[in-house]
Amino acid sequence: MSKSFDVVVIGAGPAGYISAIRAAQHGMTVACIDEWQNRDGKNALGGTCLNAGCIPSKVLLESSELYHRANHEFSKHGIEFKGVGIDVSKMQKRRASIVRQLTGGIAGLFKAANVEGLVGHGRLLSGRQVELTPVGGKAEVIEARHVILASGSTPIELPVAPFDGDSIVDSWGALEFDAVPARLGVVGGGVIGLELGSVWSRLGAEVVILEAMDDFLFMADRDVAREAAKAFAKQGLDIRLGAKVTSAKAGKGKVSVAYEDKSGTQSLEVDKLVVAVGRRPYTDGLLAEDSGVQLDERGFIIVDDECRTSVKNVMAIGDCVRGPMLAHKGSEEGVMVADLIAGEIAELNYNVIPSVIYTAPEIAWVGKTESEVSASGRPYKKGSFPFAAIGRAKAMEQTEGMVKIISAADDDEVLGVHIVGPMAGELIAEAVLAMEFQASTEDIQRTIHAHPSLAEAVHEAALAVDGRALNFPNR
Ligand SMILES: Cc1cc2nc3c(=O)[nH]c(=O)nc-3n(C[C@H](O)[C@H](O)[C@H](O)COP(=O)(O)OP(=O)(O)OC[C@H]3O[C@@H](n4cnc5c(N)ncnc54)[C@H](O)[C@@H]3O)c2cc1C
Repeated sequence: MSKSFDVVVIGAGPAGYISAIRAAQHGMTVACIDEWQNRDGKNALGGTCLNAGCIPSKVLLESSELYHRANHEFSKHGIEFKGVGIDVSKMQKRRASIVRQLTGGIAGLFKAANVEGLVGHGRLLSGRQVELTPVGGKAEVIEARHVILASGSTPIELPVAPFDGDSIVDSWGALEFDAVPARLGVVGGGVIGLELGSVWSRLGAEVVILEAMDDFLFMADRDVAREAAKAFAKQGLDIRLGAKVTSAKAGKGKVSVAYEDKSGTQSLEVDKLVVAVGRRPYTDGLLAEDSGVQLDERGFIIVDDECRTSVKNVMAIGDCVRGPMLAHKGSEEGVMVADLIAGEIAELNYNVIPSVIYTAPEIAWVGKTESEVSASGRPYKKGSFPFAAIGRAKAMEQTEGMVKIISAADDDEVLGVHIVGPMAGELIAEAVLAMEFQASTEDIQRTIHAHPSLAEAVHEAALAVDGRALNFPNR
């Protein structure tokens, strides 16, 4: 007789593993199938996020930032030492060890929650049956009352710059360089391109980022993007906008890149080229022809606001469905669908999903940009406050950037919060909570913020919305 579960999840990335644990917390029998294999051939839970995305990138960002600060900032604190070196191999071992701890941790969480982790490829058949094919093993069919598809995404490959796994690599490859390339090209000036470019630039590489769009960080608020561009230029990141790559050829340890910009055809020679032009939903081999689940023209699984697909009791979550490709968005969808399956009322507020870019300074935002609010026609007011006037930022010697708040002119509701500066990724949590509770600017103004803290910049920006900033002249 085939195995049977209340819920079968396909994919154990942050969307899938969280949904599996939540469903098990509701007392359901749950299996979670995953096929991820690391370079060493070992299977690991956690998907892109833990193995090749969020976590390893943040580990290297942290290490490279410390190295950069030791070289360029510690002396401002009066800390002098000679001969700061880097050991890339040790840095990479630390990255691998943290990834191992966290992915192994999910196995422990599964055990504690009674989720059955199944290694292999999952394919949705018709009638909510799932075919599991273990690596090198025989396929078996599992019965499920509910199926959650969480198959994630994969990097987009440019036909003019195909990956070769050595000189022309995707984001995963760029996290595993065993030495600092003297010259690094990055195709794509989005979140991933900027983070990876920052890592290797801080470690000493000469980095050129080629971005096809004319606007820098088109999805961010313009004031924030401008501040960030200034900071990155100062750090030596060479960001070329309106640069469309037309070819990349690897040979003799070099990559020759050609691109078009306003002035015509340009060329560039680098030691390594990272192509980070976005990701596409990954549904290869996921759906049998008669599964009934539909994809849109870009390959995303079509779902409604509650992540229900076109097939009853089959849900889909995370990067394989519409919405921003962010781990926390996928995880919260995982919680929502498990709660819905358990018969609870659950919904997700897609308007308040925070975005963070872990560069230095960090960039973070939630809600609408000023251009979006302006285009909506709703009258608005705004205020901003620089970190240069924040004591804690001065103590940290990290005074670049600001907090900007946009609020409705009529009822004072906070519509968007945009931060570029130290710990922006942490500070944004206050704004997310405020917006989740539909706070007004006055609510933030009247909330007591610890002194001295970076969060005072959020408080002062809220005051500045009404021309009442206390520690900076109001405009
Ligand atoms: C370099 C980089 C940095 C990033 N940094 C951040 C960040 O800082 N913050 C953030 O929020 N997001 C970040 N992301 C994005 C984040 O990694 C994704 O949004 C997130 O991993 C999506 O989660 P998911 O569960 O939908 O899919 P995934 O994490 O991709 O997991 C899907 C899993 O399903 C498995 N799978 C797929 N098909 C099958 C099948 N048929 N059978 C069995 N298993 C299958 C895959 O092997 C994989 O393990 C980053 C991404 C990259 C590449």
